[in-house]
Formats: sequence, structure tokens, C-alpha cells
Amino acid sequence: MPSSFRQIDPPQRLLMGPGPVNAHPRVLRAMSADLLGQFDPEFTAYMNEVMGLYRPIFGTENKWTFLIDGTARSAIEASLISLASPGDRVLVVNFGRFGLLLTEILARIGAEVRTVDAEWGKTVPMDEIAAAIADFEPKVVATVHGDTSTTMAQPLEGLGELCRQAGAYSYVDATATVGGMEIAADRWGVDIVTGGLQKCLGGPSGSAPITISDRAAEHIFARRHTELGIKRDDLEQGSGQRIGSNYFDLAMVMDYWSEKRLNHHTEATSMLYAARECACVSLEEGLAERFERHRLAGKAMTAGLRAMGLTVFGDDAHRMTNVTGVYIPETVEGERVRQRMRDDFEIEIGTSFGPLQGKIWRIGAMGYNAAKNKVLITLGALEAVLRTEGHSVPSGAAVDAALEAYTS
Ligand SMILES: *Cc1c(COP(=O)(O)O)cnc(C)c1O
Repeated sequence: MPSSFRQIDPPQRLLMGPGPVNAHPRVLRAMSADLLGQFDPEFTAYMNEVMGLYRPIFGTENKWTFLIDGTARSAIEASLISLASPGDRVLVVNFGRFGLLLTEILARIGAEVRTVDAEWGKTVPMDEIAAAIADFEPKVVATVHGDTSTTMAQPLEGLGELCRQAGAYSYVDATATVGGMEIAADRWGVDIVTGGLQKCLGGPSGSAPITISDRAAEHIFARRHTELGIKRDDLEQGSGQRIGSNYFDLAMVMDYWSEKRLNHHTEATSMLYAARECACVSLEEGLAERFERHRLAGKAMTAGLRAMGLTVFGDDAHRMTNVTGVYIPETVEGERVRQRMRDDFEIEIGTSFGPLQGKIWRIGAMGYNAAKNKVLITLGALEAVLRTEGHSVPSGAAVDAALEAYTS
């Protein structure tokens, strides 16, 4: 029998990069539950439960809180193409790789994009965003919350109000922070927030939770009936679509998640089970407790890295709690260290891209892996690898400092 027919048996690797991370065992078990038809009342009841479970996770009362089937990027794309039409002005708050992704998606649909930028390792001050809105008069303002490429978290307090006063819709990519840092969609006053499971929610990638304000939902529905100038029947006959995607047409996806249950795609059953379990595990732990667990893990990781004499990347005041960037010492080869972490210790840490490629590693402690033992094991392993690669580090200092951070 060819060996490729063997049952899949991946190594037990500890994923301490910027995501994905190891899924919570409860989530993996939920995914193996029996399948149901997408209109089965038991299944639509699960869909409704999911809507309810993700409201507190996003910090919102929004009726339209549901899942997009796909990785986090699917919800990003669905949101942007549903909010902005070709030719619309969109302001992107850009402070890393994922700001560039927003720009790229918008450019693809023919939006007129302007960015308000911060250098990598910093965030954009709110008054600069306000000035750019006043000057550019965008229809949509799009930003990332935590950009894992730079490990920075953009402050969002007051953003929604600023946008509403200017008559703009607002979009936030919270993929890397949801479930690990507070998401306050209603308090921030933002219109659409999207996430993914594979970072702080401790699930696999492949389902993207989304929440949409009533006013943005109205805009999206109205666009279908007026701006598009066509009705659903026409759409189904394929005449004159303006939203260039059927799969990501949020009005159609919302019809499917509504009581109408209009057929669209076949909901990804096992991914919905996973998303539901991620939310249950998070809410059972308590969101405040969960954020504190991530904060402590990040604090201990940072303390440990510094105790090794390494330099932590980026602005201390705006660092994400769940992923830490650290400069690669000049005496070692970054990729070799990562490989030895993997080969000798079964631990994955992250590389970087763009202007930071080859300059920093990114070490995450997210979701199920934001745990004391995993932080300590990672620091201990990194110390051993650095030392055997010829970079001298004070023996035991990293683990001691991390332990200290957990008790102080
Ligand atoms: C990880 C990440 C994504 C990833 O999207 P996928 O489609 O799930 O790979 C998007 N945005 C941000 C901010 C991220 O950190």
C-alpha cells in the first residue's frame, strides 16, 4: 500500500508564531460531531446560537453577527466590497502588512484609496486619522486592529464617532485580536468588525466571524435594491451584477442567516461547530479573564526575551499582548534558529516579511497557547538554541524572568 494512503499523523508541534496556533481540544472534538443538513432545524438553531455567542465576543448588540465561510480574509473582502463601490473614496489606516492587504482589495474593486500611514512598529494617532478624514472625505474608513506583521495594536476609541460625523462607514480587521484583546464594536461605534478563529480564539482557520451595524446592513441591502438597480430574481438570472462576487455578497449571505433562510452556500457545518465551540470556550473562561491571560503571557514573554539580552520590537505603548516581535541577534542566522526550534523542540516561532524580513522573529502566545508552561518552554528552548548557535545568553535568565513576571 502506498505510504500516502496512511492515516494522517502530524507531529505534535507547539505553534508559538503569530497564528495559526494549536486549537483547543474541545474545538477539535466539536469538529468531529455528526453533520446535519443546512436547513435542518437543529442546525439552524446552532446558527442562531452562533449569532448570539459572537455578540459579546465582538462587544456588540448588532443583530447581524454571523460567520463567513472562509479564512479571515474572506470576511475582510466581503466587508470591503460590500461597503465600497467602484470609484468610492476609502481611507485606509495603514501600519503594517494587513493595511496593505486592505489597500490591495480596495484597489482591485476600483475604489479610490488613500492611506494614512505609520512606520512599521508604530500606530497612527487619532488626530492624524481625523485630519485625513476631513481632507479626503472618504465614504469608508478601513483599519486593522492588531497587525501581527508589526505586533502593534491601533487604538480605536472614538473612531466610529469620527467616521459617523463625517458620513463615512468604518471597517475593522480584528482577526489577530478577537478573543485575546478587547473588541468593543459598539463602544468604538464602528460599522463592521471581522475576525478569524486561528489566533486568539484557539480554533483552526476556515471560518470568519463578522458583525455588522444596522446602518451598514441597511446600506448593504439598499445597495442591492437601488444602487444595483436589480432585484434578487434578476441577480439569480445573472443580469448586471455590481457586487462582483456572489460568494461574498453580504446581502445574500445575510438573507441566508436571516429567518428567511434563502439558499446561498452550504454552510460549512464542521467549521460552524468549531466557531461555536471557540466562542463557548471563550465565554466560559470569561472575556476579562481571557484578556488577562493573554496580557500575562505577553508580559512574561517580553520579560524573558529581554532577560536574554534581546531587543523587543516596536512601540511599547501600543504592543499587542498576544504576539511579540524580537530582533534577531546579528550573531545568528534567523532561519536556522527557527529550524532548530522546530527540529529539536517541535516549536514553531514566526518569521517576518516586508521591511522586517530577516530582522525580527515574531513569537505568539495566543488562544490555547497563551499559557504559562508554553511561554516558559518556548523561552527555555530559544535560550538553548541561541547558545548552541554561538550567541551567549545568561543561563536560565529568560525562564526566571518570565516566572517572575507571572508572580509580580
Ligand atoms: C492573521 C491575520 C489575517 C489572516 O487572514 P487569513 O485569511 O485567515 O489567513 C488577517 N488579518 C490580520 C490582522 C491577521 O493578523
